[in-house]
Amino acid sequence: MEKEKLEFFRRRLRDLEGELEADLKAAGGQSATVSLDESIGRLSRADALHSQQIGIALEANIKTRLSNVRAALTAIDAGTYGACRHCGKPIAEARLKAMPETPSCVNCSGRR
Ligand SMILES: [Zn+2]
Repeated sequence: MEKEKLEFFRRRLRDLEGELEADLKAAGGQSATVSLDESIGRLSRADALHSQQIGIALEANIKTRLSNVRAALTAIDAGTYGACRHCGKPIAEARLKAMPETPSCVNCSGRR
């Protein structure tokens, strides 16, 4: 991939990394506010548990994306960015623009 394009994706990925770090902080705060020992009603406890589960799922999702973003930044430095992690073929540029952190091409990610 051309140097200018790599720099473009590097900037996108750095921005994304910052956004995801902020999101992770927000999600972490949300799931940490629910204490199971709190003497709250059964219904509101179920609600609290439910939103805690959403918070945990959200947090896991952000963490996965964040690790993909960091792996992509490492790949840019290593000169392997844009190649599918599974089949090694180049990932379509439109796909990279929509999801610069994606580690696999559309074929491989569909197969999983
Ligand atoms: Zn592939």
